[in-house]
Amino acid sequence: MQTPLRFTRWLVLVLGLVMVGALEVSAAAKLPNFVVIFADDLGYGDLGCYGHPTIRTPNLDRMAAEGMRFTDFYASAPVCTPSRAGLLTGRLAVRSGMASSKRRVLFPESKGGLPANEITTATALKAKGYATAAVGKWHLGVVPGTLPTSHGFDSYFGIPYSNDMNRDNTKGPKGREAFWEPKTEYWNNPLMRNEEIIERPADQNTLTKRYTQESVSIIKANKDKPFFLYLAHNLPHVPLFVGKEYRGTSRRGLYGDVVEEIDWSVGQILETLRKEKLADNTLVFFTSDNGPWLIFNDHGGSAGLLKEGKGSTWDGGQRVPGIAWWPGKVRAGVVEGSIASTLDLFPTFMKLAGVAMPKDREYDGVDMGPLLFGKGKGNRDFFPYYRDVEVYAARLGQYKAHFATKSAYGKDPVVRPEIPELYDMGVDPGEQFNIAKQHPDVIEKIRELVKQHEASIKPVENQLEKQ
Ligand code: MG
Repeated sequence: MQTPLRFTRWLVLVLGLVMVGALEVSAAAKLPNFVVIFADDLGYGDLGCYGHPTIRTPNLDRMAAEGMRFTDFYASAPVCTPSRAGLLTGRLAVRSGMASSKRRVLFPESKGGLPANEITTATALKAKGYATAAVGKWHLGVVPGTLPTSHGFDSYFGIPYSNDMNRDNTKGPKGREAFWEPKTEYWNNPLMRNEEIIERPADQNTLTKRYTQESVSIIKANKDKPFFLYLAHNLPHVPLFVGKEYRGTSRRGLYGDVVEEIDWSVGQILETLRKEKLADNTLVFFTSDNGPWLIFNDHGGSAGLLKEGKGSTWDGGQRVPGIAWWPGKVRAGVVEGSIASTLDLFPTFMKLAGVAMPKDREYDGVDMGPLLFGKGKGNRDFFPYYRDVEVYAARLGQYKAHFATKSAYGKDPVVRPEIPELYDMGVDPGEQFNIAKQHPDVIEKIRELVKQHEASIKPVENQLEKQ
């Protein structure tokens, strides 16, 4: 009888080891995938699910219906470069030197870029075994050491900055006239694969389609391992370009055509996730880097009822569409009044991937988990609005105080009122009725929080001013 008993013990031990092994494998397999879809200069009011009457966005509307749509979601800055630095690092651009009062963004000839010691979402997830890919606009540097492949991404495919840069002045009408009927050869922009230029000028009419095809292939190629896909469209930033299938199809004109093609792209990404049976293990987040560029008339978007647009610290500059999707995990519905930001994506992803937050630096992002998966109000009630390197305004709960104001792109001087302007963003999201006189206590509370925040900022080398 001894032998069978020993055999049984042995069998139990072996089975136990196999089960532990299986559990470990399934734990690793369960690491969620992350997809960030980042539009450029898309306004708060530009999607059907945010109330636009003539732009049709059925795929984003469905994403919002199945997922969570935010009413109070903020880009980390009102212009491209600092906004992108904030999203990918979870830190305000002032901390990485990616904001400046002299040059608001990086340019093709800029010598600076996201410093090597900054930890991006891609760097952190790659260390955990994730496949990582950047597709589309980068705008965090082109000098060696600053491209996506130096910041944790396995691959890169896209134009490394804004699509209106590298204007070829020998072609087309002068100045702003070139934008009204843009031709791809008016802008001598490079399309890159990793560190190589593969096409110049990039055929911008096919950009959205090619970024989508690239993204779909990346998802399919990595379906058996965790991945992070950062798809940052160059559009609907001006000059507006669109695929022939979408040209002239929208009641909103060329801008609407462009947004509707991006909506198609979102549909392709979500459909691929469904088909590959990845939908129940993938968090997708759709948002925009800043508000609409209003100086471009009907070639710019709409901030809906919000005041101002891109470049401004009025809400139209930074409050953007924000939609989270993860069927069966993210609570479906509209989350009203809870403040959240692109800054929060970094800590949210780290928590879900089981990566500890680095302890050697300050973070401005907070984990969105309670908001996304629980019944909670969320972890954030304070949000500072930076214009370049200065806090112009700050929100605390429903209140927003303006310590400085200036038009988005005008030459007017900065106004720093003795009594800051104060708005109730619940009653008055359009920031029309200053209630500072009725609530001096609220202003003092916000002023104190801004002071505490500013005390945490350490001086660093400015990357945007490097020549
Ligand atoms: Mg932008």
